[in-house]
Amino acid sequence: MTRRKKMVERVTELMDKPQRIRNIGIVAHIDHGKTTLSDNLLAGAGMISEELAGHQLFMDSDAEEQARGITIDASNVSMVHEYGGEEYLINMIDTPGHVDFGGDVTRAMRAVDGAVVVVDAVEGTMPQTETVLRQALKEGVKPVLFINKVDRLINEIKVDSTEMQIRLGRVIDKVNKLIKGMNEKMYNDGWKLDAAKGTVAFGSALYNWAVSVPYMKKSGVNFQEVYDRCRAGEMKALAKSSPLAEVLLDMVVKHLPDPIDAQDRRVHIIWHGDYESEVGKSMINCDPNGPIAMMVTDISFDPHAGEVATGRLFSGTLRRGGEVYISGTAGKSNRLQQVGIFMGPERIEVESLCAGNIAAVTGLRDAIVGSTVTSLMEMTPFESLQHYSEPVMTVA
Ligand code: GDP
Repeated sequence: MTRRKKMVERVTELMDKPQRIRNIGIVAHIDHGKTTLSDNLLAGAGMISEELAGHQLFMDSDAEEQARGITIDASNVSMVHEYGGEEYLINMIDTPGHVDFGGDVTRAMRAVDGAVVVVDAVEGTMPQTETVLRQALKEGVKPVLFINKVDRLINEIKVDSTEMQIRLGRVIDKVNKLIKGMNEKMYNDGWKLDAAKGTVAFGSALYNWAVSVPYMKKSGVNFQEVYDRCRAGEMKALAKSSPLAEVLLDMVVKHLPDPIDAQDRRVHIIWHGDYESEVGKSMINCDPNGPIAMMVTDISFDPHAGEVATGRLFSGTLRRGGEVYISGTAGKSNRLQQVGIFMGPERIEVESLCAGNIAAVTGLRDAIVGSTVTSLMEMTPFESLQHYSEPVMTVA
């Protein structure tokens, strides 16, 4: 069996098991390393070849794929990660850091349940860190923290290992202050970041290594060793003993919620219909047997397939050929042509796809970004997407 076929089998097996899915976004102030991190995660999980990571190609060098003319949508990527002897499907939605970033972050945050907040160890938190964090909390999206560019602290700023730990601690305190100031309830309910618990990782996306307290316990590599190796420029050895993808994805699986856990909370934030109705209950329970309820968060154009609507399926099962309604379009039905899911950066077609997944479908000619797609003739639509481009409040 080819590597690709094996991967298709693994992905399609996992998409029916919501407990094994994590829908995440990576959010950061511009230049803090989001792109470098995403590329290296994908390469580390074996979804693209390592040589291509960092070149933003998101393309498998496999000649077969190139010959088949597969189109790559770099804004949605999925990977399979093994943790504790089980495989997990991690769907990652990109949040581009360009001028229009606010709107993109909002859309992405609607689709996901967890966020990896990336902060540059040298610069610390910046205004966009605050904005993206606020947007995540508004959508009920749980954060974990990755403090990036630690190699710069060590080799450019030349801090000693005590000073490094103090500085890293300060970044964590600052992010915690922001979370507390934005939503004290969430902060008190366990969303406070805590390195000892494993909700914070440190490292270098550029040089492909990271550490977290749980991973240090597992690997036996301690803080001082990491410092000394980085100082000595032994980046390859560090990337081997503390691989970025392994550390980060372990943190994602262990500390970010699966769709069942997340929807129980998030549906009350993003939808204000009747929670006792069939669709309300089905969304809260992430029920694949309930009515279809999906929110479109992105529309892209594929030269082979035409318009592709990507979004989060909160309830029901999408099936190729199925009829759905787009709320607000006067009862006209649309027929689902292709139902797809992401494997690496590639969209693969499936017969059906159940609640909790990020779906990419064609045939929704009346849908726009923000549309509610449902099998019901009538359904209260999801809350519209609102974004806050400026921090409303600053926490010192
Ligand atoms: P984005 O704007 O958040 O997507 O940031 P990029 O991933 O494009 O990174 C911005 C710059 O920082 C690039 O020049 C990267 O090579 C560099 N960079 C990213 N991560 C690291 C790191 O861990 N260490 C160092 N020294 N540079 C990094």
